[in-house]
Amino acid sequence: MTAAEIRQQFLDFFASKGHQIVPSAPIVLKNDPTLKFTNAGMNQFKDIFLGNKPAVYKRVADTQKCLRVSGKHNDLEEVGIDTYHHTMFEMLGNWSFGDYFKKEAIQWSWELLTEVYKLPKDRLYVTVFEGDKNEDLEPDAEARDYWRQYVAEDRILLGNKKDNFWEMGDTGPCGPCTEIHVDCRTDEERAKIPGKDLVNNDHPQVIEIWNNVFMQFNRLKDKSLEPLPAKHVDTGMGFERLVRVLQGKQSNYDTDVFMPLIAATEKLCGKQYGQSEKTDIAFRVIADHIRAICFAIADGQLPSNTEAGYVIRRILRRAVRYYFSFLDVKKPLLHELVPVLGAQFAHVFPELAQQADFVKKVVFEEENSFLRTLDSGLGRLDTIFAAAANKNIEGPVAFELYDTYGFPFDLTQLIASEKGYSVDEPGFKAELEKQKARSRAATELDMGDWTLLQEQPSGVFIGYTQLSAEAKVLKYRKI
Ligand code: ATP
Ligand code: MG
Ligand code: MG
Ligand code: MG
Repeated sequence: MTAAEIRQQFLDFFASKGHQIVPSAPIVLKNDPTLKFTNAGMNQFKDIFLGNKPAVYKRVADTQKCLRVSGKHNDLEEVGIDTYHHTMFEMLGNWSFGDYFKKEAIQWSWELLTEVYKLPKDRLYVTVFEGDKNEDLEPDAEARDYWRQYVAEDRILLGNKKDNFWEMGDTGPCGPCTEIHVDCRTDEERAKIPGKDLVNNDHPQVIEIWNNVFMQFNRLKDKSLEPLPAKHVDTGMGFERLVRVLQGKQSNYDTDVFMPLIAATEKLCGKQYGQSEKTDIAFRVIADHIRAICFAIADGQLPSNTEAGYVIRRILRRAVRYYFSFLDVKKPLLHELVPVLGAQFAHVFPELAQQADFVKKVVFEEENSFLRTLDSGLGRLDTIFAAAANKNIEGPVAFELYDTYGFPFDLTQLIASEKGYSVDEPGFKAELEKQKARSRAATELDMGDWTLLQEQPSGVFIGYTQLSAEAKVLKYRKI
């Protein structure tokens, strides 16, 4: 089954259960002070949960573009190192707004996985919330009882607040959840250690695929929980993980979601995926990050020096560093992947293909300027090595490289260690702290490289008006 078919089956299944299929919200959030990027399918329905807005449909399903690179859900450091956390991913979801609750949610998730997708039942584990005395939260006996109708007792596990009480951010709608995990290990491995001991343990082959949240509370600023006006269902299933399980792969990157990007990167750098862990991480970082970068730009977030724009710039630079350091590529590469991704998603998220030329241009400019930074930093680094006493680079020297030349500290460390030099990290951090204190004292509003001439708070970004990196006016459509 192709990824496209798997996505469609999810939507068809929930349509057959009376759900309205809705489009993904933009990945970029312009008007939410608590969140920069969409980090879950439920974000666009927050106001319905809070009772601020009526639900147009009581049952809804979709695939939502998500980005987990800042705030409460930040997976950036895992990405590329592991094979199942992405920066940008699709979250398949179904919702009930004050309509069905635990019984149907559990029944349908089981039906979809075991009857439609035909996942073997003896590979699945479910977890339910064990309660939390500090917050006076009851164990979820109801969810447990519903699961008992389908799943053997020893496959129903209790989970703590960290894993089985879902929260969007520091404040906002939240509630107990029940999750479904798949054990993809070989029979031999399964005979050695029972899968239940590995659930929620970050085992690369025993992975969480679906979370069913029972939205009941609103987390307030003072940390207390207030009951929501009605009870809702909010579910999220990681699309790339589902595809990997159904295609019988060991890694999300081996599926047809990522292989086109990896194959294109192989051609561009002349190296093969699967040759060494070091280069493989670089391939995965690139295949992952280009998606985050492209969808963020296509939805209106250009790379810049501040806030959300800086998050995107950092992701882009992280990808450049990986190809620069591990694939030996010294010229812009990422922008070449934009058309590949645009074509791949033309029928799901057409906004990227529609703006591919512009996005490509922005990515190229960013790569180019960062590569120049790297180049001048490397030249400076040679002088530093020649002058270093005891093969040690002092903190203030590394800091100057970072601060004046924009040269990343971890790259200084990497190059130094390759040459047998050490770097004074505490000394670097001390300088960094001093600088932070200075800039806190002189906070000034920096609008970044691109400014909105006319931002309409109630609008939705629908595209750039001109195909140029100097585009200054963004178009908004009223909703
Ligand atoms: P994990 O424990 O693996 O980090 P999570 O508990 O943080 O996942 P949820 O917030 O429950 O994830 O999100 C719902 C679903 O979205 C998960 O069950 C998973 O399938 C998927 N998912 C979460 N984070 C990522 C990610 N960074 N990349 C890809 N899929 C993800
Ligand atoms: Mg997580
Ligand atoms: Mg989890
Ligand atoms: Mg989870």
